Amino acid sequence: MSADIIDGKAAAATLRETIAVAVAAMKADHELQPGLAVVLVGEDPASQVYVRNKGVATEKAGMRSIEHRLPADATEEAVTDLVRRLNADDTVDGILVQLPLPDHINSARVIEEIDPAKDVDGLTEANAGRLMLGKPGLVPCTPQGSIILAKSVRGNLSGLHAVVVGRSILVGKPLAMLLLAENCTVTMAHSRTKNLAEVCRGADILCAAVGRPRMIGGDWVKEGAIIIDVGINRIEEDGKNRLVGDVDFDAAKVRASAITPVPGGVGPMTIACLLRNTVIAAARRRGFSDPAV
Ligand code: NDP
Repeated sequence: MSADIIDGKAAAATLRETIAVAVAAMKADHELQPGLAVVLVGEDPASQVYVRNKGVATEKAGMRSIEHRLPADATEEAVTDLVRRLNADDTVDGILVQLPLPDHINSARVIEEIDPAKDVDGLTEANAGRLMLGKPGLVPCTPQGSIILAKSVRGNLSGLHAVVVGRSILVGKPLAMLLLAENCTVTMAHSRTKNLAEVCRGADILCAAVGRPRMIGGDWVKEGAIIIDVGINRIEEDGKNRLVGDVDFDAAKVRASAITPVPGGVGPMTIACLLRNTVIAAARRRGFSDPAV
């Protein structure tokens, strides 16, 4: 067997087009242009690239992109003051604080300042709680993108056994909640899980969000499983700088029925889902029905 390769780039492009249509309709019907504000503190090169990419994608979708840059030595108060100003600004529909923040700033406190209605990363306690309770809220982007890709393979995930390796607030936990909402039987695995290979071999859907290059070997994969590899790891190999996932792609693809590549799998979906959350936030804040995105 050789797995279907799940094309996250194509799926993200399709989603972005749908979002652009929804944005155009909002402009036509309500003279409303959704706006996404991104806050970047410091000069971390990877964060700068992410922020630039987010800005370009936001404008391509027809929305307004607003960037706020603060110096690396900005105080926590300066960051929370900015977030409060963005909360109060009616032209801003989504607020994203680029993580990680410098060590002297408490990220959790800053995130809690974001108005949950504008929390397009879905990281506030209010949105995490809504996800847990099965209520509508704003859902973290990478887990949402992972679900869209899994459903692109098998529309109905009901009854499947999903194993999520990794339990972070950003990825693993919300992904497990979303799979549960799809009526999967969910196992959450982490660094203390015993017999991890065996646990993974029980998965119809195997999601890896660990941050360890190729940790999940081919013999951890059940025949016919769907693999969603969230991991992004930069390694040196054969004298080259490469990006690889948490799954040993070449070994896993001969057993799986479908697998996301790295790069080109979950990664591109993350920004597309951020845009999706922004257009949804813009509609909900004004009491409009959710756009069809
Ligand atoms: P974290 O470091 O926050 O969490 C890693 C998780 O993996 C933890 O729950 C940890 O368990 C678990 N873990 C670590 N080592 C092992 C092990 N040996 N066996 C089993 N579990 C283990 O990472 P994130 O969730 O933020 O990110 C995970 C990966 O996803 C990274 O590679 C990151 O780059 C990538 N990522 C990709 C995104 C995308 O857009 N595609 C977006 C966000 C992240 P424990 O809790 O017990 O410590």
